[in-house]
Amino acid sequence: MYGLKTESSFDSAHFLTDYHGKCENLHGHRWRVVAYIRQANLGAQGTEKDMVIDFGKFKRALRALTEELDHTFLVEEGSLRPQTIACLADEGFSLTMLPFRTTAENLARYFYHRLAEQNLPVSQVDVYETPLNCATYYGE
Ligand SMILES: [Zn+2]
Repeated sequence: MYGLKTESSFDSAHFLTDYHGKCENLHGHRWRVVAYIRQANLGAQGTEKDMVIDFGKFKRALRALTEELDHTFLVEEGSLRPQTIACLADEGFSLTMLPFRTTAENLARYFYHRLAEQNLPVSQVDVYETPLNCATYYGE
């Protein structure tokens, strides 16, 4: 079994719904995302001969996904009143509406599936909310 690992990071704001503590307030993180690929065999021919996959392709795929969320406010759908969303958008703030509670666990699953849908043999995604706290998604 062979593996590749790459990482990227992004800065964004969020808050947690139905949470009683500091994280119920709007705050920001530098989210660090580490993605892993596992594959039994290396490429047989062409540019990917003796490689798991082209490292550049993997790195660019993760960077593009983190770029989409960089310097945006991650908002769980239904967690803010429509008027609030309209006011924030009217102020020119960049919002990313997500269909899940914006926990590190759910973000790890989100990145996992976004990579998998590009046919990358992703095996694990870690999302660090702080340098010492990390959530991991391993797939189904
Ligand atoms: Zn947080």
